[in-house]
Amino acid sequence: MKHEPITTATNCSQEREPDALPVDDARARVLETLGPLPGVLSSPVRACLGRVLAQDVRSDIDVPSTTNSAMDGYALAGADLPVQQSAHFPVVGRALAGHPFGAALARGTCVQIMTGAALPRGTDTVVMQEQVQRHGDTVLIGTGHHAGQNVRQAGEDLARGQIALSAGRRLRPADLGLLASLGQAEVSVYRRPRVAFFSTGDELRTLGHVLGEGEIYDSNRYTLHAMLERLGVDIVDLGVVADQPDALRTQFRRAAQDSDVVITTGGVSVGDADYVKQILAELGSVEFCKIAMKPGRPFAYGRLANALFFGLPGNPVAVMVTFYQFVQPALQRLAGTRDECLPRLFEVTCAERLRKKPGRTEFLRGVLTHDSNGGLQVRSTGQQGSGILSSMSNANCFIVLGHDTGTVLPGAPVQVQPFDGLV
Ligand code: AMP
Ligand code: MG
Repeated sequence: MKHEPITTATNCSQEREPDALPVDDARARVLETLGPLPGVLSSPVRACLGRVLAQDVRSDIDVPSTTNSAMDGYALAGADLPVQQSAHFPVVGRALAGHPFGAALARGTCVQIMTGAALPRGTDTVVMQEQVQRHGDTVLIGTGHHAGQNVRQAGEDLARGQIALSAGRRLRPADLGLLASLGQAEVSVYRRPRVAFFSTGDELRTLGHVLGEGEIYDSNRYTLHAMLERLGVDIVDLGVVADQPDALRTQFRRAAQDSDVVITTGGVSVGDADYVKQILAELGSVEFCKIAMKPGRPFAYGRLANALFFGLPGNPVAVMVTFYQFVQPALQRLAGTRDECLPRLFEVTCAERLRKKPGRTEFLRGVLTHDSNGGLQVRSTGQQGSGILSSMSNANCFIVLGHDTGTVLPGAPVQVQPFDGLV
């Protein structure tokens, strides 16, 4: 196959940028200009799981709306509680959840009350059913109780006028319940980022085809699709494109149409068939293209029409590492998320020796387990080649060896990013 030579100068060639960007600088450069995409929509609460709030939600009511009982028992005035010896109280009525007693209580009397029932006027205290003796129309209440016990105050969950959830919040199940508890049927949420992606490589075959010599199945589109799906973005899968400049140009243009973000995998290195950087420079602009990290060093970040462009490496592990470190935080920013943007780091004990040279950040695939003292320790999954996707599958965390870190010895502290916390 004949490849068309590309003569267009890139602004990010190997010679002109000998120093690769440290990971933190690269991430900062990606994130510094990004904020929520324009456009918000009103969505029914039930459809809001994973969506990002575009407004502060204030409570128009007290939650709970009335002071009510936290127990099944008897409601009375705290001032009437027996101090020296047990006392009998006439039971003058009942209050159930949704069926208040309705009248004010006379001093020295009580009302039988169920959990969730509004406290009758004149009462502020509930004695548990199990702690009294009922004798016909009276109850015998002992000493040792205190005024105000077993009562939920109106507004103790959320007071009227308080901000219940702030703009930028990615909504979780508890938040949807909270919105419902405020009586809020619809909320304003940000538009989801629209992400187009495709794989590049003459050797790639799609599933359902038999492999010829030297061919492999395209696995990157499957990991990418899954990582994007978890983030709740709108996904446009543009398939596989051959290592041919014209075919790539066509697909670049197509991907940038109506997309907020374009992601490619492969073809971003310096091999004979690596055209991604050149075409990005030709049709858009390149911000940077080398990161001091392993895996994931070749990388192209820039702009393509109105979209952000991420040219990820081809190696399957490098795709996942660079996605989690750069693409995911960027997508969260575009989605409007205020927090949870950066991957979280924890310090644990390293259970083995890990060889490392200072001058780049390394992301090893690790397995976090409990040690005999109940603390957390981590070891690597073994083979760490950037093409060994089973190392990601077997791992439950990244071991992150920082830019300036050298070899780590057994028993030394080391930083990890648990996979469960990545989304
Ligand atoms: P490249 O960055 O294009 O040189 O690719 C680096 C390595 O990743 C090569 O061994 C490719 O065959 C492999 N690779 C590239 N794209 C994919 C893909 N979509 N699925 C699986 N492996 C890939
Ligand atoms: Mg390739």
